Amino acid sequence: MCSSDLVLLAAAQAADELQVKQYEGATECEDGDRVKPGDQLGMHYTGTIDASSKSGTPGKQFDSSRGRGVFDTKIGVGQVIPGWDQGLIGLCKGAKATLHRVLNDTKVNAQTKAKLLEASMAKAVEKRAAHLATVQAKAEAVCAKAAAVVAKSKAVTEGTDKETADAKAALYDKLVRAESARLFALKAKYEEFQKTRPMPMRASTQGGTTGARKTAQEVREEDMQLGPPPVMGQALDPNGPKAIHRNILQATISLLPTDRMPCYASCPALVARAAGATQQPGQAATERACQKKVTQEGPNMWRCLNGHVCQNPTFRYLCKMQVMDHTECLEVNVFDAVAKQFFGVEADAYTRIYEDPSLEAQLQQIHKRVLWRRQLFRLRAQKEVWQDVERVRYHVDDVSSVAFVKDGREMLKEVKAALATGQN
Ligand SMILES: [Zn+2]
Repeated sequence: MCSSDLVLLAAAQAADELQVKQYEGATECEDGDRVKPGDQLGMHYTGTIDASSKSGTPGKQFDSSRGRGVFDTKIGVGQVIPGWDQGLIGLCKGAKATLHRVLNDTKVNAQTKAKLLEASMAKAVEKRAAHLATVQAKAEAVCAKAAAVVAKSKAVTEGTDKETADAKAALYDKLVRAESARLFALKAKYEEFQKTRPMPMRASTQGGTTGARKTAQEVREEDMQLGPPPVMGQALDPNGPKAIHRNILQATISLLPTDRMPCYASCPALVARAAGATQQPGQAATERACQKKVTQEGPNMWRCLNGHVCQNPTFRYLCKMQVMDHTECLEVNVFDAVAKQFFGVEADAYTRIYEDPSLEAQLQQIHKRVLWRRQLFRLRAQKEVWQDVERVRYHVDDVSSVAFVKDGREMLKEVKAALATGQN
């Protein structure tokens, strides 16, 4: 008997490759404590579609024993799915491991592409054949005309048909052969293309709020697979889970906490810009504002954590909002540039209005502008450790209004493409 904890990452088709990563428990043990085919095992497992899956819903958990009790099975005898059946063999009692089944997605896609190419090639060849038939008919007509002319002249001179027939055959041959050569060249070109070039993929744009959308629930489920936050100076494991997920979400801002001002006083002192950092408009290429939080130490005297002292801090937005769609709510963090788009005023102006009780109506007006608007959010999800607890933190990197007409066209295009290829 073996109590092991198993995280199973898989998708829906035939297996190509299996990776077993043990992350807890003993790796050395007595032979009797090592799993072998035919053993009766008890374990917990969680099965999730990998983020790289093209056929399944990435990040989707499709099964788990958690909350149901330990799962008992005989291993290595085909009672569980391939991969799981092989991946446990050799592990020690109490081991926890991630089984990652890399599936045949790319091969399946290549086959589909090859079929589509074959079909389009057949169509083109057919078209050329039809064209060839027309050319043949034309050649026949030309030859008949030539024959008539030759026959006429022959009839006049010698009265024989031999040369007429030869001339006709020669002209016919020449025309048909020219067309055939073109047809074969075209066929060869298609075959070459089929071998070396993949089918053009649907263009995907980076950045902005274009691209495939997910529901809040899908986003959250996918983000359960996020790896730990990256450690400074430590290389990322390219085979490990992603540290950042980016998703487009169409949602409504459902809550704007107003118990705290959504702005902070920041340090306006200029500091050297880190290499590779993005430059804000109106700033020198080599300098940027410090932007650290400042605290007031006296009238017209503020100091930041870096020790800069200023008379007038710059206010910047730093707010939490709750966004929701028909599936779930998410708490998101919004920084200055994006928040400005929501509030419609600079953080300095917002602060003045917020702090002046006589401007309450104006403040309500601004909040009204933010709340209950349907928007497209580009979300960045990252794990962070807060008071020893890991949690996922969301940032809004970009926002734009929903373009319903453009959306409709995109969806129609997808429906048409699906119909054309006979897939669903
Ligand atoms: Zn500073």
